[in-house]
Amino acid sequence: MPLQKTTESIFSQLEALGHKKIVFCSDPDTGLQAIIAIHDTTLGPALGGTRMWAYKSETDALNDVLRLSKAMTYKAAITGLNLGGGKAIIIGDPRRDKSEALMRKFGRFIKNQNGEFITAEDMGTTMKDMEYIRMETQYVTGLPETIGGSGDPTPVAAQGVFMGIKAAVKELYGNDNLAGKSVIVQGIGHVGENLVKLLRDEKAKVYVSDINEERLSQVAKKYGAEAISNNSIFDRDADIYSPCAMGATINAQSIKKLKCAIIAGSANNQLEDEYEHGQMLADKGILFAPDYVINAGGLINCYSELMGFSKKRTLQLTENIYDATRNVLKLSKAENISTIEAANKIAEKRIADIKKVKSTY
Ligand code: NAD
Repeated sequence: MPLQKTTESIFSQLEALGHKKIVFCSDPDTGLQAIIAIHDTTLGPALGGTRMWAYKSETDALNDVLRLSKAMTYKAAITGLNLGGGKAIIIGDPRRDKSEALMRKFGRFIKNQNGEFITAEDMGTTMKDMEYIRMETQYVTGLPETIGGSGDPTPVAAQGVFMGIKAAVKELYGNDNLAGKSVIVQGIGHVGENLVKLLRDEKAKVYVSDINEERLSQVAKKYGAEAISNNSIFDRDADIYSPCAMGATINAQSIKKLKCAIIAGSANNQLEDEYEHGQMLADKGILFAPDYVINAGGLINCYSELMGFSKKRTLQLTENIYDATRNVLKLSKAENISTIEAANKIAEKRIADIKKVKSTY
């Protein structure tokens, strides 16, 4: 009997993106509705954060987790980590719908994956939530130092993005000094705020925007940045646009308006369509530092936690993001391909090479 359309389209999506497994988690008692997506485990267990967000539809939630989990595979691969790619989403408003019971129930679903999926924080979840998950399963990172974890990964994530920005600036301007460069940081949450600090410490001119007005004025004041409205981001002249909130802000409409020379930020999946919009940016002469290359600091921190945390080693690995970004930009130039294509090529080669190792004695 032919399958109904929804089921058919879910499987075709999985096939198109190359996913291994999707787990739908439902628990009416706690109100939990979540999806765990495991994309690829060639290099190791799939590690990815859990995002809690008030998605408009189940389709939006599924699309988000499929795209995010695939990006994790590429992020781990290009960063040289022995991890696969996965991600989870919980449908709901983190300020309204979160509870200890909901997070712990979700922890039990992770436990049932028997180590194939390990989680951490993402948008809408915190270290406290990871502590609740830890009460049910060991397969969680980003835990507080007080219970043997590595603490908040977001300063490390910001440090990696900062390295990526510097590598891109070096490519365009011949040196990586940020003094006097202007940067728009969109989204000044955990990563964004830490990034603003690093940029201001190096005397960059920083514009900030956020949908949370209170936070916006606080952060602007604290670091001497200029608050701007979210609507004016793409019309503003600045050297660097740093998306640090939601994905897909780079699309056909925004590219037409963009006036910056570089795009480099922490948000995952910044390009609405990787190939089409990656190429449009290249054609317009805007240097795109691929998101998953430069936002790997948080993942590095979690990986270190699994391997026996060392702050020094974590920072060393995070500083390597500078060279990883330079390598991507070099390949993009040499082969006349977009920067995202170049990054994908490097990541896919590592996965293919290690697959060969694992298939032999
Ligand atoms: P966060 O929830 O702490 O901060 C996000 C901020 O963006 C909030 O202040 C929110 O109000 C704001 N925001 C949301 N939508 C917005 C919009 N349309 N315009 C402007 N501002 C908006 O999240 P975070 O941990 O800082 O992560 C930010 C991004 O970086 C996410 O895409 C996340 O997936 C990615 N990332 C995070 C880490 C990490 O370690 N936390 C690591 C790598 C990548």
